[in-house]
Amino acid sequence: MENTSPLNPGDDAPAGTPGTGEDVCPICHGSGQVEQDGDNVSCANCGGTGMVIEGIGGG
Ligand SMILES: [Zn+2]
Repeated sequence: MENTSPLNPGDDAPAGTPGTGEDVCPICHGSGQVEQDGDNVSCANCGGTGMVIEGIGGG
């Protein structure tokens, strides 16, 4: 199973990792884009997906 996507900075773990789930990116709030110097650019935290992988409970 080498078909995993590279992790984005906002991801805690690869997608599908037990105990984790998708959550709305706290940086762009799910839009996948952030405003930078007056322009909308792809959100670096989630890689433009608007979603991040986060641990559920624990931690
Ligand atoms: Zn984002």
